[in-house]
Amino acid sequence: MSSMHAELMDGAGLAAAMNDETAGRARRVQERWGRPPCLVAVLVGDDPASATYVRMKRARSRAVGIESRIVELDAGATTAEVVGAVCALSEDDGVDGILLQHPVPAQVDERAAFEAIAGGKDVDGVTTTSFAAMAFGLPGFVSCTPGAIIALLDAYGVELAGRRAVVVGRSPILGKPVAMILLARDASVTICHSRTRDLASVVGEADVVVAAVGKPELVRGSWLKQGAVVVDAGYNAGSLGDVAFDEAVGVASRITPVPGGVGPVTIAMLLRQTAQAAETSLSRRGH
Ligand code: NAP
Repeated sequence: MSSMHAELMDGAGLAAAMNDETAGRARRVQERWGRPPCLVAVLVGDDPASATYVRMKRARSRAVGIESRIVELDAGATTAEVVGAVCALSEDDGVDGILLQHPVPAQVDERAAFEAIAGGKDVDGVTTTSFAAMAFGLPGFVSCTPGAIIALLDAYGVELAGRRAVVVGRSPILGKPVAMILLARDASVTICHSRTRDLASVVGEADVVVAAVGKPELVRGSWLKQGAVVVDAGYNAGSLGDVAFDEAVGVASRITPVPGGVGPVTIAMLLRQTAQAAETSLSRRGH
């Protein structure tokens, strides 16, 4: 029996502090250049979850003084139409950040659409250029959920250098980039996926576990090493994470709740990077 009870890593609190700072930056952009930072979300099709995420991001943007627009394309849009819409935004001087809501309908080549985002406007960190910067530890926009995970670990003073990190999931915008950032921060990183054998014992070696799978409560408390730090990026129906929270909380030393963990920090990261994009492009244009 364990007497441990993990400390919660409070994403809502961290997000509020980040959003306060971003609101100040947005105000200074408005004062100096006469317009607020502008984020445009591209929404293809009518997936209700995606529509909800996009509306949530718009509400948060407005709350910090970032102008937010949504470009909607219908569910039957072709790759060329999506790429065309993204390219037009890439060339528009009034747009600072572009977010293509993932996933797009199956007939659209998502990678081609992501790559149409101009590097300086990739505030969601989804292009190969941004990925390379993350992997090399160079400045650039981070993929927002990985960036949020690292921000939470940093906010709680979790040591990464020399520690063993296990990432469960290898998607191009979550598992892979978070693994790259952990590696750049000198953790020893193992990436697991659907073909990994004996996932439980691999997870059991981790000082830091990042769950990014999309399967409710896949990671069990009994898998974890005593005192492990657990970050749960999963968000499944019924507000369940990818980690069995009630079990893990008795074994881990720190854990993110779902909801109120990674999610709000992800949006805060998006807004922070939008303010940053506006500052960089407007000062470069020298107004
Ligand atoms: P995804 O593209 O579906 O990728 C899921 C990954 O999990 C894949 O790499 C897959 O392996 C792996 N996987 C599936 N079943 C597994 C199993 N039984 N054992 C081990 N690995 C398994 O999902 P995603 O976009 O990365 O999202 C993952 C989760 O994060 C979802 O719950 C999503 O809702 C959530 N999410 C949260 C935020 C946020 O802001 N909090 C943002 C984005 C996503 P293969 O590669 O072998 O198929």
